[in-house]
Amino acid sequence: MPPRTIPGTTGRPRPLRLLGDPALTEPCREVTDFDDGLARLIEDMYATMYAARGVGLAANQIGVPLRVFVYDCPDDEDRRHLGHLVNPRLVEADGPVFRGPEGCLSLPGIEAGTPRHDHAVVEGVSVTGEPRTVTGTGFFARCLQHECDHLDGGLYVDHLTGLRRRRALRAAARAPWAARAVAVDSGR
Ligand SMILES: [Zn+2]
Repeated sequence: MPPRTIPGTTGRPRPLRLLGDPALTEPCREVTDFDDGLARLIEDMYATMYAARGVGLAANQIGVPLRVFVYDCPDDEDRRHLGHLVNPRLVEADGPVFRGPEGCLSLPGIEAGTPRHDHAVVEGVSVTGEPRTVTGTGFFARCLQHECDHLDGGLYVDHLTGLRRRRALRAAARAPWAARAVAVDSGR
């Protein structure tokens, strides 16, 4: 056994679920089995995130309805945050709310100014069940809130209203990948 491996190098990228896929709107289940299957899932999630050049990925984005996310994300001071959380709970989301550019691997190529708190704390456990607390500010706080939303069946476009929402959904409907996704939320 190597003492430490780079996350994702033993995983394989899996197909991403896109806007309109029911896997993205169903709340995920708590993980109860801390076994090899969970370790493989997390490795595949890192591999999928890196292949798609994302900064975070929730398990339901590859169609697995479990409460797990991975991240490799900078904050506003360019500090790198790399890791995973199992059974995460957003225990704090506070500080000023900023509207900043946000995207999602499930809506590739689309970005919209989305309001998020500047500070977030998430508690959960590691792949082996060890307690973990992750604190984020700035862009990383945004990422943590975004990934927690996914596990509850939410998407960042849920936080948009009015013209911003209409623009994002219209862009999604016209996106090259839209033919593979189911049309949702037409009209509004
Ligand atoms: Zn996302």
